[in-house]
Amino acid sequence: MPQTPGLRPIAKTHPDETRINNRRLLLQEIFDRGPVSRADASRTTGLGRATVSDITAGLLAEGLVVESGQGASTGGKPPTLVELDPAGRFTVAVDLSRHPIEAALLNLRGRIVATAAGKTLDPTGSEVLEETHRVIGELVGEATAPALGIGIGVPGAVAQDGRVVLSEQLEWTDIDLRDQLEDVYGLPTYIASDAEAAAVAEFGRTSSDPVLRMLYVKVDDRVAVGIITSARLNRTPIRGGDLTHLTMAGWDDPCGCGRTGCLGTRLSMIQILGPDYIDMTTEGRNRLAAETTPRVDEAARYLGSALAPVVMALDIDKVVVGGQLARWFSVSENVATGIESYGGWAPEVTVSHLGPSAVVLGAAAMVLSGELGVVWG
Ligand SMILES: [Zn+2]
Repeated sequence: MPQTPGLRPIAKTHPDETRINNRRLLLQEIFDRGPVSRADASRTTGLGRATVSDITAGLLAEGLVVESGQGASTGGKPPTLVELDPAGRFTVAVDLSRHPIEAALLNLRGRIVATAAGKTLDPTGSEVLEETHRVIGELVGEATAPALGIGIGVPGAVAQDGRVVLSEQLEWTDIDLRDQLEDVYGLPTYIASDAEAAAVAEFGRTSSDPVLRMLYVKVDDRVAVGIITSARLNRTPIRGGDLTHLTMAGWDDPCGCGRTGCLGTRLSMIQILGPDYIDMTTEGRNRLAAETTPRVDEAARYLGSALAPVVMALDIDKVVVGGQLARWFSVSENVATGIESYGGWAPEVTVSHLGPSAVVLGAAAMVLSGELGVVWG
């Protein structure tokens, strides 16, 4: 049973632990460098030839890898190569933060092979569950191989046991989402906040340099944060929180929560672009975005100042801005200015390039790392 989103539980000492670790090591090697011969895999992983052959036989039987022709001969019989079968398993990923909700079916390479969307623009309460079941059912039906699991990104606070503690957007309080979905589909299910899921996607795909501590901030209806503090993604807990109602000293704009001066009052896209934003098309949002650049630049500097204490305290190496705010090119510069004005320095700040798929990509990556112990490089 999965424990922490995206985390391969660091198990108690277990007789099978070495075998599980060896399998993970070899599978990651095949993910990263396949097609590869067993001899080469043995050399690069440091695993014995017999161990590699044995694990490979298991992976072939499970349908995760396939034999794919022959490599160059080094004198004797040419070696048979082994590579990942991208269609060997599928993952269903759902982004409940979108309007309407969006879901995707991904292959083992992390490529989106099918998508599904909810029918209601802003579902709440039990409507969200109905829509979630509908999109999952639709995509599971399209999979041509067994599903590895389900990954969900939720706009709100998610507990370690997969319960959604609170989601303002979905009007959910204490929803036992993981257990409910596992009961229905019989598939391992990983739940995280949308920002945590997007952080996983961003961390896995866009770091050219080794980033140890990354803060991902997703700004759209809310201001949500996902933090990864280890280079070993499949061993690290992902943490996150919500800064929407962080009260800023000296601010007095009234907030929907009843208080004044919340960060969300100047940062959420509704505040920046106006209330019609939710119902706008992507094209309309982009057009409006261009017209509102000065307000967005100001908002990005506020965001930087709000993030500064977190960045300083955790010694963050890289800040990635995602969500709707990532549409503006000037955002990274202004967030950096905001951080620097409070902290005296700023780490590298970039905007996410994964676009609106970040949450589903990350939710699928959580399943992959949880179930197979591997990450997309
Ligand atoms: Zn508030």
